[in-house]
Amino acid sequence: MSGRSPYPRVSPCAHCDRPVLRDNDDRWIHADLSYVCRDRWGGLTATTAAPVQPRQRL
Ligand SMILES: [Zn+2]
Repeated sequence: MSGRSPYPRVSPCAHCDRPVLRDNDDRWIHADLSYVCRDRWGGLTATTAAPVQPRQRL
C-alpha cells in the first residue's frame, strides 16, 4: 500500500445517478466503463458521465 485507497473516489452521476469515477485521462466515466449515460432501461442518453456537485444539494 503506497497511499492508495482500496476504493476509488466515486460520486453519483449528475444525470443518471450511477457511480462515476476518473479514468487514467482524468475524465469522468461510469463504473461500468461507459462514458455515455444510460437510462434505467439500458438505452443511451444524450449526456455523459459527470459527478454531481455537492453544492447543488439544497
Ligand atoms: Zn451518467
